[in-house]
Amino acid sequence: EGAINRIAAGEVVERPASAVKELVENAIDAGAQHIEVVIADGGKTLIRVRDDGCGIAADELPLALSRHATSKIDGSDLLNIHSFGFRGEALPSLGAVGRLVITSRIAGEDAAQITVSAGKISPIRPAALSGGTVVELRDLFFATPARLKFLRTDRAETQAVTDVIKRLAMAEPFVGFTLRDVSSGGEGRVSFRADAETGDLFDALHGRLARVLGAEFAENALKIDAEREGFHLTGYAALPTYSRGSAVTQFLFVNGRPVKDKLLIGALKGAYFDFLSRDRHPAAALFVDCDPHLVDVNVHPAKSEVRFRDPGVVRGLIVSALRHGLAEAGH
Ligand code: ADP
Ligand code: MG
Repeated sequence: EGAINRIAAGEVVERPASAVKELVENAIDAGAQHIEVVIADGGKTLIRVRDDGCGIAADELPLALSRHATSKIDGSDLLNIHSFGFRGEALPSLGAVGRLVITSRIAGEDAAQITVSAGKISPIRPAALSGGTVVELRDLFFATPARLKFLRTDRAETQAVTDVIKRLAMAEPFVGFTLRDVSSGGEGRVSFRADAETGDLFDALHGRLARVLGAEFAENALKIDAEREGFHLTGYAALPTYSRGSAVTQFLFVNGRPVKDKLLIGALKGAYFDFLSRDRHPAAALFVDCDPHLVDVNVHPAKSEVRFRDPGVVRGLIVSALRHGLAEAGH
């Protein structure tokens, strides 16, 4: 069981950023309004995610750490998935490759804590916490030194963590996010902060865009709102005059999940074919929403690729909506 967890962990947790992604998605699934992520040394020595979500009941803490235990799906309809999690793999995987401490408190009960280190689970003990959940992961891959060697510099890993947080922050504009780096001790340095946005979805998204990509992008963005055969496309795309587009300024989501999908990236590029040179990427934050049965999000363990039932429709929707928007804006 320990070895199986370590092997499976490699699928889910490749680097600190993948651990951060799993923990922040859990916080979002728990209904958090604010999520704080603390890292040290690129997340290699410390990742701590604190949320104000629903919490985990003390007697369910061991369950949360057992493989394929998820509270998010009943097994009857694997396709009909609305939350981020559904495999019940993240926490056991993290507990297999690092030192994991989970402290949590549900309304009306006392806080409790459980520890897992290299797969060994401690008894539940009482703890102090005002509410929500704190998951702390120290010394990622200490139990699997071979994997440690594959990690990049602290700077590169910090960059990857920041990218994951910005993508999730874009996906959830009504949730507040803070990233703090405590590598040099003390309270550390806040390296990213986005307070919860208000207003309707487009207002919130526009505010979050300004926060994540900067005011210049937000001011040079086309509002996109289109539909075709059950696929809904919303969001913002940069006017061709915005010159700072790159792969890291493309935020693509399918049913609320950040994806890096070739079909979507290609469609976006195709829409700008006449406006941008081949080496340039248009900046955009675009959301494709559809009935869960029209898309398989389960293609890749890290869940960043998807497979549409009808890729042609999705491509056509993106290309035509963006070209229409660009034409209306005088391009
Ligand atoms: P999954 O997210 O796929 O269900 P995880 O291993 O990530 O699997 O988490 C296992 C379970 O632990 C979740 O289904 C959820 O019930 C609980 N859990 C994990 N993190 C949190 C959190 N931050 N707040 C509340 N519950 C959580
Ligand atoms: Mg999860």
